[in-house]
Amino acid sequence: MTKSAQLFQQARRTIPGGVNSPVRAFAGVGGDPVFMERADGAYIFDADGKAYIDFVGSWGPMILGHNHSAIREAVVDAAQRGLSFGAPTESETTLSELVAELVPSMEMVRMVNSGTEATMSAIRLARGFTKRDKFIKFEGNYHGHGDCLLVKAGSGALTLGEPNSPGVPADFAKHTLTCTYNDLDSVRQTFETYPDEVACIIVEPVSGNMNCVPPQPGFLQGLRELCDEFGALLIFDEVMTGFRVALGGAQAYYDVKPDLTTLGKIVGGGMPVGAFGGRREVMEYLAPTGPVYQAGTLAGNPVAMAAGHACLSELRQPGNHDYLTHVTHQLAEGFKSLADKHGIALTTNQAGAMFGFFFTEQETVTCFKDVQQCDTERFKRFFHLMLEQGVYLAPSAFEACFTCLAHGQKEIDATLAAADHAFATLAA
Ligand code: PLP
Repeated sequence: MTKSAQLFQQARRTIPGGVNSPVRAFAGVGGDPVFMERADGAYIFDADGKAYIDFVGSWGPMILGHNHSAIREAVVDAAQRGLSFGAPTESETTLSELVAELVPSMEMVRMVNSGTEATMSAIRLARGFTKRDKFIKFEGNYHGHGDCLLVKAGSGALTLGEPNSPGVPADFAKHTLTCTYNDLDSVRQTFETYPDEVACIIVEPVSGNMNCVPPQPGFLQGLRELCDEFGALLIFDEVMTGFRVALGGAQAYYDVKPDLTTLGKIVGGGMPVGAFGGRREVMEYLAPTGPVYQAGTLAGNPVAMAAGHACLSELRQPGNHDYLTHVTHQLAEGFKSLADKHGIALTTNQAGAMFGFFFTEQETVTCFKDVQQCDTERFKRFFHLMLEQGVYLAPSAFEACFTCLAHGQKEIDATLAAADHAFATLAA
C-alpha cells in the first residue's frame, strides 16, 4: 500500500470522506485522492515522493508558483511579531490600499477569511443597502457555501450532484433567483417579474466553477445596464478571476465596473483571506459606520495580510500577466491540436491565466446546459492518464485549470507530451 493510500485510510476515520473540502475527494473522477506533502514552483509532491506538474495551484492562490521566497519571507517576518492581535494593524491598510489601487472600483475594502465569507457579506450588504431581499445568481456559478448561495451551484456541489444542498431551508433559498449564464433575456425577465425586489446580481465574470466559461461579448455590460435600470447592485465575484484574468481582474479585462467585488484565493497568497469592497457609499453602510453587521475574530490577520501583500507586489511586476496569458494559450491550443490529431472532439476556453477543455462535439460552450452535455466519463479517463504521467489537474470536469508564473517551457512541453499520450490512449 502506498503511503498516500495509508494516510487516506487513516484520515477517513476522523474526517468525513477523509477531506476538509469535498472537491479534494476525487468523487468526480473515481479513485483515492493523492495526499500531498510539499510543493515548490510548478510542482507538487505526494506523500510517496512522486512529483506532479500542478495546474490546481491550491485552487487558484498559487499564481506565483508554490513556496515563493517573497511570500515565505513575508510570512516568517510577520509571524515573528505575533500571530494575531485582534486589534487593528498597519498591514491591513497596506493590503487594502494595494487592492484598491489594482482594482479601482474597490474604493473601500473589508478583509475576511475566505471567499465564502466575502460573498455572504457582500450579499447581506447589498440587501441591507437596497432594502430588498431577492437576488439573482446564475446556474453553474459557485459563490462559496453560504446557505442562500447553494442553489443551482457549481464546483464541488455540481461534481457531487448536489447543486441544491439539503440543510438549506426552502425559506432561505426562496429569495435566490437563478438565471442562465450568458442569457440577458433570462435576467430581464426575472427583473420584470420582481421589479422592485431584486437587491443585486452576483456573477462570476468568467465562470470557473462549471469548467471555464467566459462571458459572451456584451453579457457583463448588459448586466450592468439591467442593474442600473432596476436599481439593483452588481456584484462581481472575482474570488477566482481576481488578479488572474488580468491584474485588475475580469472587470479590467472586460471593462465593466461593478458596485461590489468579492475576492479570495490570490489576495491571500496562500493564506486564508477573502475580501469584499466597492463603492464608498455602499461600503460605509457596513458596521461600524453603518447598520449592516459583519465581523471576524481573525479577519485581517497580520500573517495573512503580509502573504497577500507580498503576492500582489510580485504579481504586479510588468510582463507577468502577458506571460501567464501566453503560457495558458499555449496549453489550451496545444490540447486542442493534439485532440484533433487523435480524432478526439474537444473544445477549449481561455481567459487570461485560466482555461478549460471540454470533451464535446459542440464548437462553443457558453452556459451550464452546454457544460452538462460534455463527456464526463472521457474526462475521468483523461484525468487519470495525466495523473499517472505526473500532471495534476483538478479532479473534476467542472473545474477550470490554473497556470502560474513557475510554469516554464519545460513544464508546458512535458504537459503536452503527456496529453498527446493520453489522447492517443483515449482514441485507441
Ligand atoms: N466564489 C468563487 C467564484 C469561488 O471560486 C469560490 C471557491 O472556489 C468561492 C467563492 C468560495 O471561496 P472559499 O472556498 O475561499 O470559501
